[in-house]
Amino acid sequence: MAKNIAFIGLGNMGGPMAGNLVKAGYTVYGFDPVEAARDAAEAAGVIPCTTGVEAVAEADVVITMLPNGNILKAAYSGDDGFLKAAPVGTLFIDCSTVDVADAREASQMAADAGHRPGIDAPVSGGIVGAQNATLTFMVGASDEGFVAAKPVLEAMGKNIIHCGESGAGQAVKICNNMVLAISMIGVSEAFVLAESLGVDPQVFFDVASTATASCWALNTNCPVPGPVPTSPANRDFQPGFAGALMSKDLGLAANAISQTGTDAKMGNLAVEIYKAFADGEGAAKDFSGIINTIRENS
Ligand code: NAD
Repeated sequence: MAKNIAFIGLGNMGGPMAGNLVKAGYTVYGFDPVEAARDAAEAAGVIPCTTGVEAVAEADVVITMLPNGNILKAAYSGDDGFLKAAPVGTLFIDCSTVDVADAREASQMAADAGHRPGIDAPVSGGIVGAQNATLTFMVGASDEGFVAAKPVLEAMGKNIIHCGESGAGQAVKICNNMVLAISMIGVSEAFVLAESLGVDPQVFFDVASTATASCWALNTNCPVPGPVPTSPANRDFQPGFAGALMSKDLGLAANAISQTGTDAKMGNLAVEIYKAFADGEGAAKDFSGIINTIRENS
């Protein structure tokens, strides 16, 4: 069983995830260039390191939770990169949300450097899921890689799903979020249309949430205040899932749509709509705040 884990990227998600590995009994070496992130992780029992090379030196497993694929590949590469610094045969697991092509490239880079092929294991469940160890992991790996990674991921999450070979975890993640974006736009347009037609939003909710329009965007993350008291609409769209992150994930979906030549008209429209939302005031708002844009434009 893996004992020493290097955790790279101790931000909003990575910090609490690393803390949960400590709780599960692993020795966790953590690195983040931001001192405050290292201090917070140290308070949760992580051994703070001032360089990534130091963090991975004794690792059985290296977990990365970084902003994007370019940062991931840069951190892996070169003389001061993690792939060179880690003991031969280390298991590299990337939990960041990155491009499918970047995930496959990173996996191959690990194998080429004498390690096991890298694993993509992006997550769903947000900061609350990271804190409570209830994340869903979508894993792209060989059968052998999945078996090796599963016990480690179980310390941080509730559902660990093997989605297929390298890149499949990222593929499932971006497809799921593309559906979420499209459904939130649809639900928001329907609320605004219902309002314009003189229908009480609560009445529309009562019918649609138990009828064929029922979905997570409506039933759980309802974009109007009232029907679902825990939804971000009740707290001025404080996230939740920020518009900037939705737009980032849709950018990855857009790349995949274009690379595969998929006829995803709704997906591409959602990419445009959320890009404009995130470029404007929506970056730090919950993505359900898109209803305000629709209302303003109506
Ligand atoms: P964050 O910005 O809070 O954390 C990223 C951390 O990486 C920062 O602390 C940063 O200092 C650190 N970092 C940057 N470059 C580094 C490097 N070269 N080496 C080591 N550390 C480095 O972001 P987050 O919200 O924790 O998200 C991390 C990843 O998880 C992203 O890919 C995001 O898309 C994904 N994700 C986030 C959520 C969410 O709700 N926040 C949900 C699912 C997935």
